[in-house]
Amino acid sequence: PVRVRFAPSPTGQLHVGGARTALFNWLHARKHSGIFMLRIEDTDLSRSTRENEESLLRDLRWLGLDWDYGPEGVTNNSNLEELKKLGPLRQSERGFIYKKYVEKLHSEGFVYPCFCSEEELERQRIEMEASGQTPKYAGTCRHLTPTEIEKQIAAGVPYVFRFKVPKDTKIVLHDIVRGDVVWDAEATFGDFIVMRSNGVPVYNFCVAIDDALMEISTVIRAEEHLTNTVRQILVLHALGFPLPSYAHCSLILGEDRTKLSKRHGATSVNQFRSEGYLPEALINYLALLGWHDGTEQEFYSREELTKSFSLSRLSKAPAVFDIEKLRWMNARYLRSLPIEKLRTVISERLKLAHLLYSHVDSSDSLTEMIAEVTRDSVELTSDYEYQVTRIFSYPLEETVQSGEAAELLTKEGGFYELSEVIVRSFKDGTFPCGENENHRVLWKEWIKCVSKETKRKGKHLFHPVRLALTGKMSGPDVGDVIRILSLAKGKSDKFVPLE
Ligand code: GLU
Repeated sequence: PVRVRFAPSPTGQLHVGGARTALFNWLHARKHSGIFMLRIEDTDLSRSTRENEESLLRDLRWLGLDWDYGPEGVTNNSNLEELKKLGPLRQSERGFIYKKYVEKLHSEGFVYPCFCSEEELERQRIEMEASGQTPKYAGTCRHLTPTEIEKQIAAGVPYVFRFKVPKDTKIVLHDIVRGDVVWDAEATFGDFIVMRSNGVPVYNFCVAIDDALMEISTVIRAEEHLTNTVRQILVLHALGFPLPSYAHCSLILGEDRTKLSKRHGATSVNQFRSEGYLPEALINYLALLGWHDGTEQEFYSREELTKSFSLSRLSKAPAVFDIEKLRWMNARYLRSLPIEKLRTVISERLKLAHLLYSHVDSSDSLTEMIAEVTRDSVELTSDYEYQVTRIFSYPLEETVQSGEAAELLTKEGGFYELSEVIVRSFKDGTFPCGENENHRVLWKEWIKCVSKETKRKGKHLFHPVRLALTGKMSGPDVGDVIRILSLAKGKSDKFVPLE
C-alpha cells in the first residue's frame, strides 16, 4: 500500500520547493488511494517554533493538500484510527522512541560514545582542510577501550553517540528519478552523530527510524537530501529495517540558474498568497516543476493532476521557476472563475486590504460590476485593491489640492470648479444613483449636464471628471467608474473604507 509523508522542519515559512514536495507526495497518495502523513521535524529545537508549524499547516490547507495523519492527530477519515498507533507526528514528542533505538544500536556495537570537545573537533577540521581533505570526523573515539570509556564517563565528560560508518562499503540507492546511485559512504562523511550530549537525537537518525516505523513506502523529497539518504540507509541497515523506495526531485532554480532563494523575490507560499495568486494556479504551476506527462497540456485541474501524475515521469533535470509564467497562469485561472466565486475573491481581497467599503459585499451587484469592469486588467487578486482604490477615492478637498490632482489643477484651469459641480450633484441627488436598470442611460444624461454647466467637452471633460471622481489620472473607463460609483452611492452616503 502507498504510504507517504511530507516532513517539513518548522524553522521558517513553507517555501515553494517544500510545497512542490508536499504536492508530489499528496498526488502520489491520492492517485493510489494511499495515506498521506504530515510529520513535523522539529529536532532542531533552537530554530523550530510552533508559529512556524502553524503557518506551515495553514499554507498546506490553503493549497488544499489535506493529510490523513498529522501533528494534530488523525484527520479526514475516521477509519484511519489505526494510524494513531504510530505515535505522535512531532519528532520532539518521539524522544522515547529514538532513545530506545540508540540503546539498541549501542548494545550491538553500531554506535559509540564520543568525548571529543568542540575545540578538538575544530582542530581536526582545520588540520584536514589544510592538507586538502574534506573535513570529517577523524574517528578518534572509535577505538576507545571499555576502561577508557568508563573513565571518561566517571569524570563527567559530556559525550555524543556516533554511528560507525562501515569501511569499504558501497551504498546503492535505487532512486525512482535517478536510477541506481552508488555511494562510498566512508569517502563522503565520517562517523556521524546520532544523539547529542543533551540526549537530543539528530535529524538523520530520527528520519530513518520514523520512515521505518511509519512504514513509508516511498520517500519523495528534494535532491539536496541525497547525502542524508545515505546516512539514513546506514541506520536502517544497522537496525535491520527494510528500505523504503526513494524519489529525489530535481532542484528548483531561479531564472539566473542558481538555486531558487529569497534573492529571486517571492519564494514562500505565504508571499504568493498575499501577492494575489490563487491556490489552483500555484498548484498547477508547481506540478509542472520537474514533472510532465509527456503531452503538451499545461492546464490541469486537481483531479486531472491526480489522474495523470506518476513518479516515473519526474525529471532529473533542474526546473526553472518562471514567475512570468505563473502570473500568466494565474490570470487565466482568475478570468475563468465563475462569477459567484470571483465575487467572493474580490470581497475577501478587499477585506484583507481593509478596503471594504460599507456598500461592497459579496452578494452585491457592485462587486459583480467591479469584476466585469476590471476583467481584462487583473492578473493577481491583489490587483483588485489597486483597481478599487482607483475608483473609490472620492474627491475630498484635500485630495484635490495635493499630489496628482494639484498638478492637473494647474494644467486644467477651472478643474476645481468642476469638482464642485460634481460634489454638488452628489449632494442634491442629481448624480445618477442606486441600483437602477437605467443607470447606463442616466450617467450619459448626467455627464451631458456637467458638460453644459462647465462648458467642457471630450478629454477636457472626461479627464478632469475622472480625476474629480477618483483622484487618479488613469483607471477604468470613465463611464464604468460613474456606473460603479452610481451603484455604490445608492447604497451609502459615504465612500469611506471600513476600519
Ligand atoms: N525535514 C526535512 C526538510 O524540511 C525533510 C526531509 C525529508 O523529507 O526527509 O527539509
